[in-house]
Amino acid sequence: MGLSAKRSMSAQQPPLSLRVIRPEEIAPGDADDEAKSDSGPPAELLAEIESASQRLETASPREILAWAVERFAPKFTMATAFGPEGMTIIHMLPEIAPDTPIFNLDTGYQFAETLELRERVKQRYGIEVELKRPAQTVAEYEQANGGPVYKTDPNRCCRDRKINVLKQAAVGFDAWASAIRRDQSPDRARAPIVGWDKKFGLVKVSPLANWTKKQVWGLITEQDIPYNPLHDQGYLSVGCQPCTRSVQPGEDERAGRWSGFAKTECGLHTAD
Ligand code: SF4
Repeated sequence: MGLSAKRSMSAQQPPLSLRVIRPEEIAPGDADDEAKSDSGPPAELLAEIESASQRLETASPREILAWAVERFAPKFTMATAFGPEGMTIIHMLPEIAPDTPIFNLDTGYQFAETLELRERVKQRYGIEVELKRPAQTVAEYEQANGGPVYKTDPNRCCRDRKINVLKQAAVGFDAWASAIRRDQSPDRARAPIVGWDKKFGLVKVSPLANWTKKQVWGLITEQDIPYNPLHDQGYLSVGCQPCTRSVQPGEDERAGRWSGFAKTECGLHTAD
């Protein structure tokens, strides 16, 4: 199916009817994830996104993005940590939907190299990636908790400084783009192209779900897409500075994240 055919199909879809999450429902530090989306999506929306997901299994990332923009813009957004996958989507978006709002969850613990990449995105694409921050600064957070929470309870730290921030950032949107690939980890292996994200009460679109690391880096090289220089220093996956180490040859690409803890995901891409 060509892109134009998909566009005309998407144009015929009924308007979305999603439960709007009001800012006052989301308190910083609120641990009750279920309360944000307990009513779930309407059955017809679930059926629609399941059908779209199957249809888009063989589509290119650009076609998937175009479908998502047609269907959900202007209530379509993207969160990025400026990883190689996120950078490939940022590279594709200007020609499809340059006004797509993109934000970064600025925990206060990110590498300087990551924040510098935000400036390179601005120079190259004219895109101003918005920084979304928790209510408390790192100093305030650590003072309130008797020191760095990531050392003792990284799940709580990620919840306070990433997940609850994304919940607030998601208010007013119907869908978001993620840059996950199915072959990144067992946790991500079953990610649909389009699915319902219960945690954030949004439709989640993953244009790169079927892509491989080789395809991502092939495009980065071919198109000279900016990327985090830490990747050239053995940091295959880059998160917050205290929770990221470089990996040795042969290690899993996410082995350097939360090394020493059983934790493998920050919680943005898991159901619970
Ligand atoms: S990755 Fe580490 S520092 Fe960053 S929010 Fe999670 S636990 Fe905290």
